[in-house]
Amino acid sequence: MKRYIYADNAATAKLSSSALEAMLPWLQSDFANPSQPYSFSRAAKAAIKESRQVIADCIGASSDEIFFTSGGTESDNWAIKGTTAVPCSIITSEIEHHTVLNSCKAMTAGGANVKYLKPTRDGVILPDELEKNISAASLVSIMLANNEIGTIQPICELCKIAHAHGALFHTDAVQAVGHIPVDVKSLGADMLSASAHKFNGPKGVGFLYIKSGARILPLHDGGSQESGKRAGTENVAGIVGMATALKENCERMSETAKRLYGYEKLLIDNLSGLDFIRNGGENHLPGVINLSFKGASGEAILHRMDLKGICISTGSACDSVNTQVSHVVRAIGVPEEYAQGTIRISLGADNTEEDVVTIAKALKQILSR
Ligand code: PLP
Repeated sequence: MKRYIYADNAATAKLSSSALEAMLPWLQSDFANPSQPYSFSRAAKAAIKESRQVIADCIGASSDEIFFTSGGTESDNWAIKGTTAVPCSIITSEIEHHTVLNSCKAMTAGGANVKYLKPTRDGVILPDELEKNISAASLVSIMLANNEIGTIQPICELCKIAHAHGALFHTDAVQAVGHIPVDVKSLGADMLSASAHKFNGPKGVGFLYIKSGARILPLHDGGSQESGKRAGTENVAGIVGMATALKENCERMSETAKRLYGYEKLLIDNLSGLDFIRNGGENHLPGVINLSFKGASGEAILHRMDLKGICISTGSACDSVNTQVSHVVRAIGVPEEYAQGTIRISLGADNTEEDVVTIAKALKQILSR
């Protein structure tokens, strides 16, 4: 029997067994520093090279456009702070993850001018909104898919507008990579952030795609790793685990997505009779279900679900200490009587139909009291 039902995969996902297996040699038997010139280091150097190629192939990039980082937070910070010399003008949206919002805030403190685009009720950033606000922007940063409500943004169109006005385009694709098809060439983005633990890879490793020719300052000073752009001894095991997990997720992506969209329908059908709104619109990440229950408290639901052995969330994992209505729920304008009762259920490849029925039953028990 399961110890608990884990339905918070957007916060983090379980490390895949094949990723773990692929990582182990680089932690013990082949532990060499890849930068050393002796033959013992060659295998680690080759493993990094191969992983870079695997990741590049998964997102339609060239291997020299992939830069390994410590995860989504670092990639986002680097993209925003490394491409914009203040004074500058940045455009982002009200529903970005705090790593983007706070990076922009830091840039404002240094003299940058930042505009925040408003989403529609479904959480979409409309290209028209960008067109109206773009004048003189040097960087546009809009996420590919939202971490709380799952909405997928029209990045291709947004990118075209940014480029037509001479601005660089960054997308935080932390929730999208490994879950929906991502092809950097057709998206057109200059930079794209990803994080391994969101697609069944290890925590503390990610990457930033930087389009060939895009100008970006090195993240920090040090050695010559990552073409001199991101110094520091490479996390070889993490990089190998990330590449293994991403390849595996991409290979089973359409099958997983089909199953998860089916589970979403099952869950919603099983909640009939309860008064709730589903947030995030039609075009959303598979398995991300954001619900606002009338007159309820999302935090109380989370704790009652926890007592029943079910892990869900009220919004962003990075903001779990903040029990107020999230900035995303506020920005999309969820009516006040529903907003406080918002929860996020995020299903992953390991969830079963039985989990979904149990989650719905538990919610019904809690909310009909
Ligand atoms: N961006 C988004 C959309 C996220 O969901 C997260 C994590 O929740 C991050 C960035 C930060 O990623 P990491 O946990 O790898 O630092």
